[in-house]
Amino acid sequence: MNLRSPGAVLLISCYELGHQPLGVAMPMGFLQRAGFQPSVMDIAVEDFDEEKVRVASLIAIAVPMHTAMRLGVRVAERIGELNPTCQICFYGLYASLNSEYLLEHGANWCIGGEYEKPLVALVEAIDSDSKVEVAGVIQHGQPALPVLEKLSFAVPQRDGLPSLDQYAELEHNGNTRTAGYVEASRGCLHLCTHCPIPPVYGGRFFILPAEVVLEDIRRQVKAGATHITFGDPDFLNGPKHSLRVVRAMHEEFPDLTFDFTAKVEHLLTRGEDLPEFAKAGCLFIISAVESLSDRVLTILDKCHTKQEVIDAFHTVRDAGIALRPTWVTFTPWTTRDDFLEMLDFIESQGLIDHVDPVQYSIRLLIPPGSWLADHKETLPYRGLLDEAAFSYRWTHPDPEMDQLQKGVARVVEQGAESEEDPGVTFFKVKELAIGRGLVNVTCSLSPDRPRAPRLTESWFC
Ligand code: SF4
Repeated sequence: MNLRSPGAVLLISCYELGHQPLGVAMPMGFLQRAGFQPSVMDIAVEDFDEEKVRVASLIAIAVPMHTAMRLGVRVAERIGELNPTCQICFYGLYASLNSEYLLEHGANWCIGGEYEKPLVALVEAIDSDSKVEVAGVIQHGQPALPVLEKLSFAVPQRDGLPSLDQYAELEHNGNTRTAGYVEASRGCLHLCTHCPIPPVYGGRFFILPAEVVLEDIRRQVKAGATHITFGDPDFLNGPKHSLRVVRAMHEEFPDLTFDFTAKVEHLLTRGEDLPEFAKAGCLFIISAVESLSDRVLTILDKCHTKQEVIDAFHTVRDAGIALRPTWVTFTPWTTRDDFLEMLDFIESQGLIDHVDPVQYSIRLLIPPGSWLADHKETLPYRGLLDEAAFSYRWTHPDPEMDQLQKGVARVVEQGAESEEDPGVTFFKVKELAIGRGLVNVTCSLSPDRPRAPRLTESWFC
């Protein structure tokens, strides 16, 4: 089967948190280097192009996150209707975690872990009509472990993708600016039980060569980016590497600003580097705080305490950077008091504008393969696997907490639809949590207050 003609291979991204999809740009770089000419489609921002699907012989769908999985399965169904002989490969973090389901629902192949090398090898095998026996490629009756090895990285290729101005922007000081997205590392050193990365990476991470990252930044700056998001699961897993990349980036583009994600523990242990990050243009840091409850933090194996969260917040703020905490707000172990404590913390630390309202309604996902799925603390509350939702159902021992979650989700959704001031949404959520009605909710924040820097697409999985 000839896969070398233009468009014979099609790479599809479904959702990447509002960023121009690196999950397509990176394999595009690898495949072009190997002599293929894939076409690309990002259904998050462009129409589903039936013609591209009809001419393709192999379509690879990126599933780096839960939302992308749900959309990707629908895309595979549509491909099956439009081009039934086309082969379908799912790749990315969620592809290996859900390979059984995917292989039963339209996929011929699934690749997780460091997926680019196996993907190129798969395309080469199909192109040369060879039997597919490729390390890391899962197929019917042939399970395979994800490839976890340092790859020879190609520079991501973004030609053919929608322009950067169609994606999430930086919002800062009342202005919006074009944002780019890169990764300087993948995988993670840590083993948080609720995270989809440890079951695939097992505590390993891989850095990308600084020159590859810098060239990707250079190209995105040329395409209009004035802010860069480092999307590494944890930018401080390799602190020396991150500093090297940031120093070189700042030297070349002194006005470029950036943000990154790092765990609480790293913000404390690498606190001395934060002023340099701030000087180099770091506007904000996302940190997966998840909870302030010791019990929840222990079950999630987050390796931080409430006091450390407070310390990290002060360390980051003292460095002149905004901290944007993210939360797993509702878990089977979260009590109403825990929820109220989180809201009090956000209010008292002046963090209302640092938290996207959707965070108040986040309900723990327990995907198959997750280390939480069979955790002794989960089992009493875990229900059946909702295959189509790629998550186990669970119920809270206190039914009022499940009601509260639904109520908060409604308030947050309505607030987002009506473009409500996030401060107003916060105080509505607080009223609900206290058990009062939503009549006469007052917001103590001025509508004209300066807001913390953020991306216009909320962070959630
Ligand atoms: S939640 Fe963050 S620190 Fe924990 S394993 Fe996942 S990426 Fe690593």
